[in-house]
Amino acid sequence: MVLATANPDKAREIAALLDGFEVVPRPADVPDVDETGATLEENARLKAAALVEATGCAAVADDTGLEVLALDGAPGVYSARFAGEHASYADNVTKLLSVMEGVADRRARFRTVALARFPDGREVVAEGAVDGVITSAARGDGGFGYDPVFQPDEGDGRTYAELTLEEKNALSHRGRAFRALAARLRHT
Ligand code: IMP
Repeated sequence: MVLATANPDKAREIAALLDGFEVVPRPADVPDVDETGATLEENARLKAAALVEATGCAAVADDTGLEVLALDGAPGVYSARFAGEHASYADNVTKLLSVMEGVADRRARFRTVALARFPDGREVVAEGAVDGVITSAARGDGGFGYDPVFQPDEGDGRTYAELTLEEKNALSHRGRAFRALAARLRHT
């Protein structure tokens, strides 16, 4: 199966989670797809369908969003561009902390949809989620994106950015989604 990501680190992580399946990163000559869907599932489908079209192989794609309860689920599907079209991770974190200033209910959820699509149009979809809270200040140097301000409920009080990569992968939304996808794929 071809992975929608061309990022070798993410590809390695996903390959480990899809234990037993042969996966390869997106070939360099296949361009990335604009994530124009209104939901995480639509975006994952857009990416997987484009890859199937370009390669003729089965493809696996995922999309992730951070859903903040007090913001009615925002930034959600717009997590990458919360602070603007070309926002950096730091810009997005700064914007989130600023809109959450003084907000008492800090509950949030990371949600990933992982989707496999086959050349005959069949699809297998799975989801993984982790509940937590948005901290009042950034903590930790690890990870990426919103990791410094997301403290998972199931942890020991550290943010995602304060966990080792192994600890984060064992717990994370993406880990859960891909392990669930692997389980479903084994039964299809
Ligand atoms: P993507 O769907 O994996 O590209 O994720 C969309 C956006 O969600 C990213 O640009 C990040 O801002 C955020 N994001 C996704 N996964 C994580 C994570 O594991 N930690 C922190 N932020 C994440």
